[in-house]
Amino acid sequence: MRIIAHVDMDAFFAAVEQRDNPELKGKPVIVGGQGPRGVVSTCSYEARKFKVRSAMPMAQAKKLCPHGIFLPGNMKRYQEVSREVFEVLNRFTPIVEVASVDEAFLDLTGATHFYNSLEELGEALQAEIKKETSLTASVGIAPNKFLAKLASDWRKPQGLTIIRPEEVAEFLKTLPLEKLWGVGPVTCRTLKQYGFNTAGDLASVPLERLEAILGKKTGKVLWELAQGHDPRPVEVEREAKSMGQEQTFQVDLSAAEVKAPLAQLAGKVGRRLRKEGLAASTITLKARYSDFKTVTRSRSFSTPIYDDDTIFQVAWEMLKELPTAKKYRLVGVTASNLVSKRQLSLFAEPCQDDLLATLDKLKAKYGNQVVVRGREIGG
Ligand SMILES: [Mg+2]
Repeated sequence: MRIIAHVDMDAFFAAVEQRDNPELKGKPVIVGGQGPRGVVSTCSYEARKFKVRSAMPMAQAKKLCPHGIFLPGNMKRYQEVSREVFEVLNRFTPIVEVASVDEAFLDLTGATHFYNSLEELGEALQAEIKKETSLTASVGIAPNKFLAKLASDWRKPQGLTIIRPEEVAEFLKTLPLEKLWGVGPVTCRTLKQYGFNTAGDLASVPLERLEAILGKKTGKVLWELAQGHDPRPVEVEREAKSMGQEQTFQVDLSAAEVKAPLAQLAGKVGRRLRKEGLAASTITLKARYSDFKTVTRSRSFSTPIYDDDTIFQVAWEMLKELPTAKKYRLVGVTASNLVSKRQLSLFAEPCQDDLLATLDKLKAKYGNQVVVRGREIGG
């Protein structure tokens, strides 16, 4: 069973403004576009008392709360503070998904044994965020992302809501359809026409009934959500969208002569992937011919890869498909469409992983030349 948390900062932009400018504390602060078509992006809880809400036209907010403090916002500043928050979250688990500038999903399955209870874990999250940023967050903890997000929204600000597996059905029974992921106004209207009003209503009919009304795909997704099932993993996003290595040669090389340097480049890319705990769904080969013409070839896989052998094989195959008469002044190997290795269940045999880990350690300690594979020498 997974333990997933959704962390949602309370009135984030407005809270940052109040923190940085103490004279704004306790006042209705409204952050958003100040132009004629501006909308509210965040407002403090003091402003919410005047019924100001996110996404409301700014003109309407000004009518509802004429004494409010209206600010254009400072995204750069909010992003700085967001980074501080995410640093705190990463202390609890490396599996953190950035849902937005002020929202995150955490897979805490491996962290629970450090705490006596989920309450303690949730309170620790909130306390640590408060200590480091002076800001408050609402936290939901549940067996999956869908329920965790519902939970964090349950009580705000500074709410901590835990949904245990045995409480899921009760929680969903009366949940309005609009709260289900992916239910927009159109789907909602359709479902209401058929007499469905809550998640519990959807859960109580056979799957085939929803598939008949909404189509196979949507029907299945909503029926599963209504049962409280959501298999989506917490996806670690990396700033690096790709990792590449390339090499320019002193003299132009034939395809056969390129094989060894290509193997070395593949090894470097593989090591970087493993160091970051990532795997690549796409490998791209870059080749520059002696006449400076540059070509790239890419190949993608349904099971992402991270081992030197496969990266090299793929790159080498793509190179062999290029015109044979050419000479090369540069080749490069890039891994992209990166995913966290932890998300992948279908992975290479453990012994291969052990071997790679040992080689990586040796190379980190003694340099790249300590262990060299046959293909990296050439000849
Ligand atoms: Mg928020």
